[in-house]
Amino acid sequence: MQTATDINRGLQRDDFPLLGRVVHGKPLAYLDSAATTQKPNAVIEAIDAFYRETNANVHRGLHRLAQEATDLYEGARADVREHLNANDTREIVFVRGTTEAINLVAQSYLRPRATSGDEVIVTEMEHHANIVPWQIVGDMIGVRLRVVPIDNDGQIDLEAFERLLNPRTRLVAVTHVSNVLGTINPVKTIIKMTRQTGAAVLVDGAQAVPHMPVDLQDLDCDFYTLSGHKTFGPTGIGVLFGKAELLNAMPPYQGGGDMIQSVTWEGTTFKDAPARFEAGTPHIAGAVGLAAALGYLRSVGYEHIAKQEQSLLAYATARLQALPGLRLIGTADHKAAVLSFVLDGVHPHDVATVLDAHGVATRAGHHCAQPLMRRFGVPATTRASLAFYNSQSDLDALITGIESAREMFQ
Ligand code: PLP
Repeated sequence: MQTATDINRGLQRDDFPLLGRVVHGKPLAYLDSAATTQKPNAVIEAIDAFYRETNANVHRGLHRLAQEATDLYEGARADVREHLNANDTREIVFVRGTTEAINLVAQSYLRPRATSGDEVIVTEMEHHANIVPWQIVGDMIGVRLRVVPIDNDGQIDLEAFERLLNPRTRLVAVTHVSNVLGTINPVKTIIKMTRQTGAAVLVDGAQAVPHMPVDLQDLDCDFYTLSGHKTFGPTGIGVLFGKAELLNAMPPYQGGGDMIQSVTWEGTTFKDAPARFEAGTPHIAGAVGLAAALGYLRSVGYEHIAKQEQSLLAYATARLQALPGLRLIGTADHKAAVLSFVLDGVHPHDVATVLDAHGVATRAGHHCAQPLMRRFGVPATTRASLAFYNSQSDLDALITGIESAREMFQ
């Protein structure tokens, strides 16, 4: 295992078969990991092995394969618990991803509890997944969304947050790491501040778990979410962590098989969490792949990942800031390796199109954060988002591509 930090080559790059691809005749420089990460062999092989050797439905079968599949699925839950240092495996609910996790909390936690005039606090940097579910429920019962402002570097104004907290605050929902700005938010402080009120805290961890260790017992939030596909695992699987006493007091989000204690024509009783929130056949291979991804991350080591990504971030920031007419959006002191920018006189989509011709995969648009775009007065940005497998040459290709976009359009 290659562990020394070396930004000339990506950390463990050879573990990711797709990174060897050639795109438009150029070596692929994959700088879109905030949208989705590439998958290591360990994940691809775990999913392949599941379908080749074990595939069966879980929980209900008495035959050998069904038992093995159940062991793998429940073993994955135990792995997730361990990875996040949650208290209990019953606090780990498998869902499709962060979007479903937040919708579940909006429908099953907020909706039954909130009354008209209650408030949900979010920040200006939230992804639509952490805005729209609260608005949908809020519109049904008259819950107001309050928004914590951020400064020009993209950092939360904690004093403004303190002023927004009040006895009508039902829930605080904040992203751990911004998908646009890269800002790493002081979620532990936010959780502590919220504890002074009776409100619950949900942390959107979609962009955190791929880059940093998360200790849920230390954080002490009520809900935490992650998306498998952003964490080097498969699409269609994610996690909602919820404190057991909260989950067991929440009504199910969906009904169906595997989540009931008993069904009669008169009514149904439900199992405790997590089963009450996992109606129907789950994404078994997805859970197996996610567990493989988390195990792989631990084997690479978060300290090596952080070193590599921070070195790449420093290099990319310096190179981008040296380009005339380029404005970086998101310059927090404490940030993950995400670089959003606009280039004078060139539309972000044109930048991304030229970059693609150079084999550089970035993303242009509002990044599902339209209010944040408005906050910075831009319709869109081009975003390069990194992972530990990136190298200095990926970033050099990015700079070359931006220079050529400028020559073409300015
Ligand atoms: N939250 C953040 C911060 C994100 O970056 C994303 C995806 O980009 C989401 C939530 C939604 O995640 P998913 O599409 O995996 O449900």
